[in-house]
Amino acid sequence: MDKISIVIPCYNEQDTIPYLKEELYKLMESMPQVAFEIVLVDNCSKDGTLNLMKQLHDGDPRFEYISFSRNFGKDSSMYAGLKASTGDYVTVMDADLQDPPELLAEMYETLKTGEYDCAAAFRKDRKGEPWLRSVLAGAFYRMMSRISDSDMVNGARDFRLMTRHMVDAVLELEESERFTKGIFSWVGFRIKWIPFENRERVAGKTKLPMKNAFSYAIKGIVAFSTAPLVAISVLGFIFCIIALVYTIVIVVKQLVLHEAVAGYPSIMCILLFGFGMIFLVLGIIGQYLAQMYLEIKRRPKYIVRETSVDHI
Ligand code: UDP
Ligand code: MG
Repeated sequence: MDKISIVIPCYNEQDTIPYLKEELYKLMESMPQVAFEIVLVDNCSKDGTLNLMKQLHDGDPRFEYISFSRNFGKDSSMYAGLKASTGDYVTVMDADLQDPPELLAEMYETLKTGEYDCAAAFRKDRKGEPWLRSVLAGAFYRMMSRISDSDMVNGARDFRLMTRHMVDAVLELEESERFTKGIFSWVGFRIKWIPFENRERVAGKTKLPMKNAFSYAIKGIVAFSTAPLVAISVLGFIFCIIALVYTIVIVVKQLVLHEAVAGYPSIMCILLFGFGMIFLVLGIIGQYLAQMYLEIKRRPKYIVRETSVDHI
């Protein structure tokens, strides 16, 4: 009998867990041919999330929980959950039911054919999401696919069923600055994309506001592409050429045409523009330096405070 592990990162999800529980039971009843294991990862929630997890575990040993000493973020929770999972197939799912659990049956059938190593869900639309967020997210995924080795699908979720083989590959990428969507596509394997209609979360509020989404995008770019470093080198080169041409123009004007060269305004423009560019370039290099700095410290990706799993 195959076993499916479901990893669910949670942060302050006490309002959604009762709905989640109901849906998970429906799912497990609808797939009697497989065994289930549910790994709930608590990011040190400030509400009753952990207590609810413990109740679930006490009532049904298929529910396991891992609770962190602080909020290490969704990506670290996914890493911990994947590491703790023991199933032949493993999936990651949000606690808010934005990832429809009923898709799992189709994903499982897809993997059972042996043709694919991963069945992943993506949103056909972004109904209910602020339009600016949709536009920026679309642009981000298009750009990432162009500038990195990873092919990223717009609307792709972390929600996907993977074979044990693929999960082990994902776990081998041990970076602490984890951009999981990038990691999932970087490892490759044969992926079947399954579309679904966007859903609103069942209860509670989003834990990923716009400003966090923005810094997450920058983290993703730095982690999966060195194209910005190439771009600033090219920029520097272009500036040198412009400076050279302009110098020649000035010399010719002065020595050959005997025309007075406009002084202060042009110098100010060039200085401001030049300095702006220098700071921009330093900022980009700084982003890479910062990620190297965080990586090089080799700090643990998470610290477990209490858990029902003994092998983590
Ligand atoms: N989450 C988490 N740690 C965080 C933020 C979010 O474990 O620091 C979990 C959250 O509980 C949920 C999932 O990650 O299960 C997705 O979060 P959310 O629904 O808030 O994000 P959105 O769907 O709005 O992008
Ligand atoms: Mg959500």
